[in-house]
Amino acid sequence: MEMKSVLITGGAGFIGSHLCERWLAGGNQVICIDNLITGKKENISHLLDNPDFKFIQQDVSKYIDIEGPLDYILHFASPASPIDYRLYPIQTLKVGSLGTHNTLGLAKAKKARYLLASTSEVYGDPLVNPQTEDYYGNVNCVGPRGVYDEAKRFAEAITLAYYRTHKLDTKIARIFNTFGKRMRKDDGRAVPNFITQALAGKPLSVYGDGSQTRSFCYIDDLVEGIYKLMLSRLNEPVNLGNPGEITILALAEKIIKLTQSKSKIIHNTLPKDDPKLRCPNITKAKQYLNWAPQINLEEGLMKTIEWFRSNFKL
Ligand code: UDP
Repeated sequence: MEMKSVLITGGAGFIGSHLCERWLAGGNQVICIDNLITGKKENISHLLDNPDFKFIQQDVSKYIDIEGPLDYILHFASPASPIDYRLYPIQTLKVGSLGTHNTLGLAKAKKARYLLASTSEVYGDPLVNPQTEDYYGNVNCVGPRGVYDEAKRFAEAITLAYYRTHKLDTKIARIFNTFGKRMRKDDGRAVPNFITQALAGKPLSVYGDGSQTRSFCYIDDLVEGIYKLMLSRLNEPVNLGNPGEITILALAEKIIKLTQSKSKIIHNTLPKDDPKLRCPNITKAKQYLNWAPQINLEEGLMKTIEWFRSNFKL
């Protein structure tokens, strides 16, 4: 396959840095843009000497000027954990709206194919489970998660408007909970919190009674799904996630077992608008992308625990 020129926004983030690696491994040139408010230079430091890799520190909510041709644009820039988008509500809204507009404009100018990182948060606190792509969602636009959910809903709408109006070849991935190496230990999400707490012998902080569910996809599986989606003919939104649903209490217990920790579980207040259920229906991804996750939760957790063990003093 011929070498492509690929722009990845949020390329120094957890998912973005894995995408940079994946496209470089496929023999392409990668330009990574990140303003590093939640991304980290360490995530891409091993790529900086690669002549096919270029890093630009910039906020994509501002005008983006890239010299030369671009074949693909992947828009992954955004704070993405509940703690981060509560800390950066305006940046979250701007990168989902202005940042999406700017990157779509760039894709139009360069005649590039475009992939938007959307999210299962577009379904809010869902009233149907599992969620299929035709479910409209149940979102509180003025709640604490609204800044992320509404930014991504707007991002989907404008992406499809560019597809319909300008015939841009756009893709939308609705990404469900994903975990693996390079998650920040302080990003506040369940997996890094529980792993760091278990490894440090501290109590695991389950919010509420822990009966809320999530479905966790290992990063390598997600990256493969994104790669296949970019190469596909699909233009409508598609769910990418692991359909294995688990309660948060069971996740905490599993992590205690896998780390062989003596930690106990404590129950803290459940944050407002915390979705009670979340599970992807991935029929569409199976049918159109021939994609389904290959790595089960235990296997993914073991790899992630090992990475946390060797990268942090806990
Ligand atoms: N959660 C928890 N303890 C923590 C962090 C998160 O019980 O220390 C819960 C959180 O309330 C939610 C679930 O775990 O129900 C997943 O939270 P996360 O922040 O990982 O992602 P979300 O799916 O809510 O965006």
